[in-house]
Amino acid sequence: MEAIRKVLVAEGGKRFYVRNLNEDFHTQFGFVSKVALAKSKAGDTVRANTGKEFSVFEPSFIDSYGKIKRAPQIIPRKDVAAIIAETGIGKGSVIVDAGTGSGALALFLANIAKKVVTYELREDFTKVAAENVATIGMKNAVIKNKSVYDGIDEKDVDVVTLDLPEPWKALQPAAAALKVGGFIVSYSPTIPQVSDFLDVVAKNKSLVHIKTIEIIEREWEFDERIIRPKSQPIGHSGFLAFVRKIAK
Ligand code: SAH
Repeated sequence: MEAIRKVLVAEGGKRFYVRNLNEDFHTQFGFVSKVALAKSKAGDTVRANTGKEFSVFEPSFIDSYGKIKRAPQIIPRKDVAAIIAETGIGKGSVIVDAGTGSGALALFLANIAKKVVTYELREDFTKVAAENVATIGMKNAVIKNKSVYDGIDEKDVDVVTLDLPEPWKALQPAAAALKVGGFIVSYSPTIPQVSDFLDVVAKNKSLVHIKTIEIIEREWEFDERIIRPKSQPIGHSGFLAFVRKIAK
């Protein structure tokens, strides 16, 4: 799978994603020639053989992210934001993530961190995640087809993120991989999982539980004078438990 190179937007807002600049790009509104595509820059308008016009964007991370394949359930953006904000992940950070799933969290983290190594038990999901890494053109994300419960190869890691059914089984490997001062963030949909995880944290003298939170996002509708929270059930995603390594 090739990375997305250009985004074309038709009048009315319909978007098209161009991966291969060496061939003409076909849409239901006609085709845009490869010559026009290759020459086009962000903000230009290109014309299909039918005369239909498209404005051109260079894809940002979020445009490409919108096109990833979803195998298991992916983590919502509101929860990704909290993980980044609470741990201070940035351009120097080295992160271990498990399980990869579709790679949604790993991709967001790789977009801002130095390196992300992500562990996935199922080979079929590692393939989906590898396609997603290619769609975004991410160079600093490594996918390993291994159980994280069996150990983490990396050392001196800044953050370990866990999104898998039995995070307590990954605690010892995660603690061993972390640098002192590093964080483990465990994301679980149910409280018994959080509780079992924190019981194991409490037994480890080098770790402290910082806090466990749930992020609730409420979108509003704006329709003339009807301005209010959207009528939708408040969906549940998961709880985020933050743990810090404070000693060797
Ligand atoms: N955070 C991911 C979704 C993870 S879903 C995203 O945002 O896209 C949970 C994943 O954990 C599943 O793909 C499952 O196969 C994987 N998994 C379960 N046990 C595991 C283990 N021991 N080691 C690595 N991955 C595991």
